Amino acid sequence: MDRQGLIRGEVSRVTDDAGPVGLREPGGSTNKPTAGSQSAPPAALPAAPPAEPPAGSPPASPTVPPVGVLGGALGVLLSGGSLAAGVLSPARRAADLRRLAGERFDLLVIGGGVTGAGVALDAASRGLSVALVEARDYAAGTSSRSSKLIHGGLRYLEQLNLALVHEALVERGLLLGRLAPHLVRPQPFLLPLTRHWQRPYYGAGVLAYDAFAAATPFGRGLPVHRHLSRRAVLAEFAGLRPDAVVGGIEYHDAQVDDARFVVTLSRTAARYGAALVPSARATALLRDGERVVGARVTDLEGRRSLEVRARAVVAATGVWSDDVGEMLAAGNPPGSPTVGLRVRASKGVHLLVPRAAIDGGPGLILRTPTSVLFVIPWGRHWIIGTTDTPWDLSRDHPAASTLDIDYLLRQVNGVLARPLSRADIQGVYAGLRPLLAGESDATSRLSREHAVVEPVPGLVLIAGGKYTTYRVMARDAVDAAVRYWPGVPPSTTHLLPLLGARDYRAAWAARTRLATSTGLDIERIERLLGRYGDQVGVLLDLLRARPDLAEPLPGAPDYLAAEAVYAVAAEGALHLDDVLTRRTRISVETAHRGEATAGRVATLIAPILGWDPHAIRREVEHYTARVAAERDSQTKPDDRTADAARLGAPDVRGAAMAADLSP
Ligand SMILES: Cc1cc2nc3c(=O)[nH]c(=O)nc-3n(C[C@H](O)[C@H](O)[C@H](O)COP(=O)(O)OP(=O)(O)OC[C@H]3O[C@@H](n4cnc5c(N)ncnc54)[C@H](O)[C@@H]3O)c2cc1C
Repeated sequence: MDRQGLIRGEVSRVTDDAGPVGLREPGGSTNKPTAGSQSAPPAALPAAPPAEPPAGSPPASPTVPPVGVLGGALGVLLSGGSLAAGVLSPARRAADLRRLAGERFDLLVIGGGVTGAGVALDAASRGLSVALVEARDYAAGTSSRSSKLIHGGLRYLEQLNLALVHEALVERGLLLGRLAPHLVRPQPFLLPLTRHWQRPYYGAGVLAYDAFAAATPFGRGLPVHRHLSRRAVLAEFAGLRPDAVVGGIEYHDAQVDDARFVVTLSRTAARYGAALVPSARATALLRDGERVVGARVTDLEGRRSLEVRARAVVAATGVWSDDVGEMLAAGNPPGSPTVGLRVRASKGVHLLVPRAAIDGGPGLILRTPTSVLFVIPWGRHWIIGTTDTPWDLSRDHPAASTLDIDYLLRQVNGVLARPLSRADIQGVYAGLRPLLAGESDATSRLSREHAVVEPVPGLVLIAGGKYTTYRVMARDAVDAAVRYWPGVPPSTTHLLPLLGARDYRAAWAARTRLATSTGLDIERIERLLGRYGDQVGVLLDLLRARPDLAEPLPGAPDYLAAEAVYAVAAEGALHLDDVLTRRTRISVETAHRGEATAGRVATLIAPILGWDPHAIRREVEHYTARVAAERDSQTKPDDRTADAARLGAPDVRGAAMAADLSP
């Protein structure tokens, strides 16, 4: 291949014939994550069949971000070529918004979480014309707030939900091996044993887990489990209380940056011609008699309302599914029974503590009275979670209370030699599981499986499931929508590498050269590869054109200034919050929670988003208020008081609109 091509962002096609399935680090060393790096070596797997957008897919943005702002090289890149089709720039949003108003689509997707973005990609790659509207930012709902595991779920095995485990393990293998090896990486876990009887019991479970995985395509990609003595456990994880363990079992699962994954999924859908518009809320369904023929949508950036017409609408709105049921009821004749999906929200809270606070290597999976607790390495941090409690308050901003935080500290401190305190906590986030309502009241026992329903012609609702199985959910939803349409091919998303995946292994192999040629250290290059895959060349182009963007961000040295610029130029970020919370994870990875970075990032992205000094100030003020409200909520004793405190800071999208409307 053209070796310079990677640096210039011209990603060339290479065939990866890496041979037999099996994870190995190029160079032969074992896969041990380095502090500060989310990256891991790619799995060596057979190459995926080529999958390219069909000829005639609508081009991307007709306009290009100002070259002077971005640097010549990136400007040129964004102006044409196949890569440009996956660029979610402000200009692309404007063009897609125009398409929403003017076209009749095959499918309109409501919701830009992992499910909705997956539906958009599934449908677009079948050759359908697709629009997607997301009320806030990509992954702003549950899909940026998960435990970030791509897993079969040992717990479901214990519940004998074998079909779910099998399905999820198939997906895990596909994601690691073909679809997103740059974003999904292997993660070793230690299951500490506290009683001797647990060894045969858990041992049988983990054995079955590995055997299940081995029987799936790509299933042999991860090392098999191994039993550890008490001494070996403490050597692997010195931070465990010696008297709390009698031994352990190590097994492998996988990890993903959930928000980045959704953006990549969305960009891949855009590359196949989907029109994607974040900050666009569906407010009503359009009806032709009983049939749903589109939706009324409010553009929260431009303060306008439009009608989007489609042959069918798929609502993938997670914990907001009942809202779509209400929209449906509003258009039904009076007295009609309400049919839809009943979804209940269950709150899950996670804490981030610095890596140095716990002396250990692999992740931990711990048993709790009602569920399991994970302690997961995450760059320079550990993620500790989660809780599982019913939530019927604000779904936009679920809040963590002291009750949640104390519970997590208590559970993890049960096994740690040096107990954690509140002072160790740098970040906290809360998310809501969209659980299909069942007869059981205990949320951890409600179904994690998904459901697809078509309550009236032209409307498909999909909810439930888990992140790991988004692709199956998406396929099922599209299958339901096109059931009676002639000539629609079956889903091929199992064959379709996401943006950045295709030449990731070649880019990884070239990482030392990339480090030399750019002057960045190898750890930085590996980290960038784990975030952008083979698209890293575009970012490095930007650095060449604008060397000032090679500076780390203030207060967040793991991120370069270029990454903030790229987030708005190519990854669909429209607000400061999007950059600090989801394109990067600065909001939970720093003790200042992004406050020390906000001003610089706002100044960097302002020219691309067309912000004046007033808008910059408003964005920073909003972000600061959000952080303050979250900190406040985390001092409150229960859900109700935490929710009230969190609601002290409104959503930036609504706030921006209100400010624009004020005299
Ligand atoms: C604490 C926690 C931990 C988890 N951990 C894991 C894990 O480790 N592994 C795993 O596999 N799964 C995990 N899950 C489950 C997984 O995260 C979810 O199943 C998944 O993210 C749901 O995605 P979704 O797209 O269906 O919903 P969401 O991500 O919530 O997306 C729905 C979107 O719809 C948008 N929307 C709503 N109404 C409208 C409207 N009217 N107009 C336009 N847009 C609208 C919302 O803004 C939102 O972005 C976890 C969940 C939680 C809460």
